[in-house]
Amino acid sequence: MMRRALLLFCAGAATMLAQGNPDWHKEFPAFQIVGNLYYVGTADLAVYLINTPQGNILINSDFKQDVPLIKKSIEQLGFHYRDTKIVLISHAHGDHDEATALIRRETDAKLMVMDADVPAEESTAPGRPGAHVDRALHDGETVELGGSKLVAHLTPGHTKGCTTWTMQVRDGARTLNVVIIGSPNVNPGYILVGNKNYPQIAEDYVKTFAVLKSLPCDVFLGAHGAYFGLKAKYEKMKAGAANPFIDPEGYKAYVAERDDTFRKEWERQKQNPGSAAP
Ligand SMILES: [Zn+2]
Repeated sequence: MMRRALLLFCAGAATMLAQGNPDWHKEFPAFQIVGNLYYVGTADLAVYLINTPQGNILINSDFKQDVPLIKKSIEQLGFHYRDTKIVLISHAHGDHDEATALIRRETDAKLMVMDADVPAEESTAPGRPGAHVDRALHDGETVELGGSKLVAHLTPGHTKGCTTWTMQVRDGARTLNVVIIGSPNVNPGYILVGNKNYPQIAEDYVKTFAVLKSLPCDVFLGAHGAYFGLKAKYEKMKAGAANPFIDPEGYKAYVAERDDTFRKEWERQKQNPGSAAP
């Protein structure tokens, strides 16, 4: 219990976990998801590139050690890393944001982060990026560049400023709603009942699931490839299937399953005060 609590609050926890997931740092082919939205992440740590006539937006930086793979993916698509104008994150955990300061420095991009995650983003504690945030975002605000518009939805619990991004993309004659889930997950060590550092954590998860259920979704994406079946869908796409990332039913099923899992764990902790998530 002590060790778990320590792990949770240890800023280096994500780095430690990193060594346990071989997909986190594994190269993955860069590809067009739909319209002007591209995948430039690793085999599990999702990084999205939105290409516009005024430069590119990146969502997530991954760990510092993953940046060479991200650069390679961007260039393989025929884009330029130096054209990165805005960097956004899913939430302030190292697997999504450790390299934000590095990318900001190398490209002069503006870093924009949900207000409640700004302290964690600017922190220089071990494993934190210590990045200067150029713009603090508030729930529902938009980020616009070259005709593309992203909406920042506060979906807290996993972190206080966890953000789900939505945008509309053109696909031929159609307009599709894209949802990039920040994280609906209760990590090992998370305390949902009587959490001194985050008293309203459980209520925040409840809010998050209500928000996720309210979002119109055609294209289902998230901070980790595992959320939406990146590998299997990419293989289907390569085989010539109709775009498998257009998956409204998969989105609904995923959100419902995660909501159910959260509620069961919350119930379990209510019955076992002082316990943390396994
Ligand atoms: Zn996380």
